[in-house]
Amino acid sequence: MGELSELFAPDRVAVVGATEREGSVGRAIMENLLASFEGDVVPVNPNYESVLGIPAVDGVGAAAADLAVVVVPPGIAVDVVREAGEAGIRNAVVITAGFSETGADGAARERDLIDVATEYGTSLVGPNSLGIMSTPVGLNATFGPENATAGRMSFMSQSGAFITAVLDWANDQGIGFKDVVSLGNEAVLDESDFVEAWGDDPDTDVIIGYLEGIDDGRTFIETAREVTRETPIVLVKSGRTDAGAQAASSHTGTIAGAEQAYEAGLEQAGVIRADSVQELFDAARVLESQPLPESDAVAIVTNAGGPGVMTTDAVGDSRLSLASFTDETLEAFSETLPPEGNVYNPVDVVGDADNERFRDAVDVVLGDDHVGSVVVLACPTAVLDYERLAADTARLQERHGKPVAACFMGGARVAPAEDVLSAAGIPNYFDPSRAVQGLDALSRFRDIAEREYDAPASFDVDRERARAILSSVVERDDARLGVEAMGLLEAYGIDVPDGEIVESPEDALDAAEQIEGDVVMKIVSPDILHKSDIGGVKVGVSDESVADAYEDLVSRARNYQPDARILGVQIQEMVDLDAGVETIVGVNRDPQFGPLLLFGLGGIFVETLEDTTFRVAPVSGSEAEAMTREIDAAPLLRGARGREPVDVDGVVETIQRLSQLVTDFPAILELDINPLVAAPEGVSAVDVRLTVDPDELGRASDGRAHGDRDDPRKATGEHH
Ligand code: ADP
Ligand code: MG
Repeated sequence: MGELSELFAPDRVAVVGATEREGSVGRAIMENLLASFEGDVVPVNPNYESVLGIPAVDGVGAAAADLAVVVVPPGIAVDVVREAGEAGIRNAVVITAGFSETGADGAARERDLIDVATEYGTSLVGPNSLGIMSTPVGLNATFGPENATAGRMSFMSQSGAFITAVLDWANDQGIGFKDVVSLGNEAVLDESDFVEAWGDDPDTDVIIGYLEGIDDGRTFIETAREVTRETPIVLVKSGRTDAGAQAASSHTGTIAGAEQAYEAGLEQAGVIRADSVQELFDAARVLESQPLPESDAVAIVTNAGGPGVMTTDAVGDSRLSLASFTDETLEAFSETLPPEGNVYNPVDVVGDADNERFRDAVDVVLGDDHVGSVVVLACPTAVLDYERLAADTARLQERHGKPVAACFMGGARVAPAEDVLSAAGIPNYFDPSRAVQGLDALSRFRDIAEREYDAPASFDVDRERARAILSSVVERDDARLGVEAMGLLEAYGIDVPDGEIVESPEDALDAAEQIEGDVVMKIVSPDILHKSDIGGVKVGVSDESVADAYEDLVSRARNYQPDARILGVQIQEMVDLDAGVETIVGVNRDPQFGPLLLFGLGGIFVETLEDTTFRVAPVSGSEAEAMTREIDAAPLLRGARGREPVDVDGVVETIQRLSQLVTDFPAILELDINPLVAAPEGVSAVDVRLTVDPDELGRASDGRAHGDRDDPRKATGEHH
């Protein structure tokens, strides 16, 4: 993909399909370009001598441009891009709609467009795009009604309409942009390309975006991880609710949908996710203008008790904490604050505070080594001049180099002070929770920038045995496997209890006698999803009762489902549940992000409790470890209420081994280990269920090395 910096800083732009017709897109783009672009604009239209006073050329080949903006009808758009490619134009913005968003014909046209762009190495935006903007060169190659003002955020959106709305509002708010791009159908350039380009752009300080979907989740994660070492990315991802629940045949498949994949994927990518447009810009503005805090301890300085409490609550709801001051600070306050003031955090300078007292208090807390950031919180009084407080705050922020958020409450009287603050890059909010959230975003990004991404571990496993077990589905007309596939886990070094599948009461007894103590017996049938739902699991069966239990299990299965295929009964060693915790480790394959791992509280009530957490595989050791800390029941694992802690390391390793298994075999669509019993002496996978894609399995065994590499869903774990 050519240099995207050229796309945003062309010398000469050809508008293919430029026209003077009132109300047309071709005219709107000409007008927008002529209004502010520093370079040349060349209208391309064989029917015009000139457009809006600029001499026109007949074809894009004659334009000698380095960017082609394409507004011709869909039927000839592909030809125009080819012509541009032949003429050496490496950048194109295709405004024209009527491609993959419109059905089969359009989809075919879009494939042609991709072919042409690939052939000429064209950096192509769209089709079906509103266009692009870049303020340093005054480029407005859109047909929107507003131009962006200059700034240091770059903004991408999958909705063109959203861009026009945002610009209208942002111009009002004094929010400026470096580049803006309407991604359109993303036939060639997509969100990952722009993240990468802006990560390298010295003029972009913050990347923001509005996305409805991410096509290639793994690439996005890899790209964003690199970029967020320096440049924050804040995104609104819309469509949080799952459209139409998929037909799942596992617990994990039921719980782990698209929203969980996005949540996990964006978090792993180092993206700060905003829930609303307000959150998006609150975070982006503070990230653009304020330094990162060295600690999460916040000081609040206020002349008003009530709002001070509100701010304290907001700190409590965030990842930040209230700073406890050094002795020097407390001493300084005991001299400067009146006795009715509060020298502890939140610092109350009292309602009668004048500008000097307020300013000195802000100065003291900013100088305190225990303080990472400060909220200056003021209510209007007769003795306080807001504009002066704003100027003092700005000066002190600059001198101490720590992040400051302002909450100057009030209406019209705030405006002049707000201008002073905003010129210094200090956001002002009426609502203290927004001020705190801004500081919270800074602290989040500091942690993201400092993240170390360790590579996934690679365990020594028996891949061939795993392949053989998975391949057994090819011989049956069913893609689901149950406890008969326990060997799959063993092949990947995951501990399972002793067990055997038998097909007669006599063999059942033999098998039970091999195992010390009572046994567990389970019906084995691909048609029975959750065995205990039909009484298909018997725990604590003594040798004397094994034969009867066998008959009972089989007849229950027959009653439940006369045509169920019964493969036999599993005789399994008892696992001590009292000392352990039933957990679930599972995976569901997401179309965008690939294998999505789930970890949570397991057992038969998984869906009821839904105490779960997710990561896109492959995961590293530290990611797997984090999963075991994130669930609500985490304290249970680490020995709550005097219980012995379970083997958390064993759980962490199991998550990693499962991650390796599903990464090695894209054919595994869904898999549950439920329960994975985590006990003090170790972990044990007591039950397994999975769904396999036999076609994918066939593909992989045909030309293995190649098959795996060509599959876009296959994340190899070799990226780092
Ligand atoms: P399913 O999930 O199909 O109902 P499981 O094999 O998970 O079947 O068994 C259901 C429950 O029975 C488990 O959650 C666990 O509480 C208990 N159980 C199963 N196997 C064992 C075992 N080997 N030792 C102790 N308890 C078991
Ligand atoms: Mg189970």
